[in-house]
Amino acid sequence: MSDVPQVLLAHHLKALKLPTFLREYDKLARQCAAEGVDHTRYLLRLSELELLDRERRLIERRIQAARFSAVKSLDSFDFAAIPALNKMLVLELERGEYIERRENVIALGPSGTGKTHVALGLGLAACQKGLSVGFTTAAALVHELLEARDERRLLRLQKQLTAYRLLIIDELGYVPLSPTGAELLFEVMSQRYERGSVLVTSNLPFDEWTSVFGSERLTGALLDRLTHHVHVLEMNGESYRLKASRRRRHSSSAEALDPS
Ligand code: ADP
Ligand code: MG
Repeated sequence: MSDVPQVLLAHHLKALKLPTFLREYDKLARQCAAEGVDHTRYLLRLSELELLDRERRLIERRIQAARFSAVKSLDSFDFAAIPALNKMLVLELERGEYIERRENVIALGPSGTGKTHVALGLGLAACQKGLSVGFTTAAALVHELLEARDERRLLRLQKQLTAYRLLIIDELGYVPLSPTGAELLFEVMSQRYERGSVLVTSNLPFDEWTSVFGSERLTGALLDRLTHHVHVLEMNGESYRLKASRRRRHSSSAEALDPS
């Protein structure tokens, strides 16, 4: 009979969605009794634990929902390796205020210069602020849009794509788009215009974007919207992969020469 209140309490805490309360209340009660902490402070500590856990769970959910290709943070980004990149601007963007202002970001540069890494890092930072993020590549997004259109659920997907606070479209430019694909991608950008932020990475400078979208008119209209409120990250430099493998080769040949 004596554990009836515990069972009821567990039930109520579950109904109230307070899992941390449920997990911690007993242990913390004993701790507070030992320390002579009063009831109010006991409840305060318990609520703080619940709030912290709730925040952690929200961030975790945001990261899962974003479908990042990898979870990378800007902490592991070596800014010295790419002097062309405006580090101050990236750190400013990491604070996420541009998302509140519904501004866009475009990272431009050749392959291997860290565009995807920076996009992932900014996406992760946004998740940590509790903002909803979607990550995709241009090719995957167009594929998804075409599939949704064929299955008559384009409207639903478009709604979902406008709902993200930040939509990251990686690798625009590697694959030329079909006219329908280009139009669908244009529609996504159009629907998000001044409603939510878009972060695009591309290996192509703006004047070559027509080769991706096919039509000059469409490219013009798209760039017009995308660049109205935009931060451009110029990422011209050597490929980080190439540099790293060259460094590895050098150090191993230096070892071969060095008899010590
Ligand atoms: P891009 O998207 O421009 O082709 P990536 O972001 O995919 O380049 O970078 C290629 C690889 O090199 C990734 O593993 C990335 O984490 C790493 N990398 C690139 N630049 C840097 C950097 N400045 N500091 C640390 N890692 C980097
Ligand atoms: Mg990339």
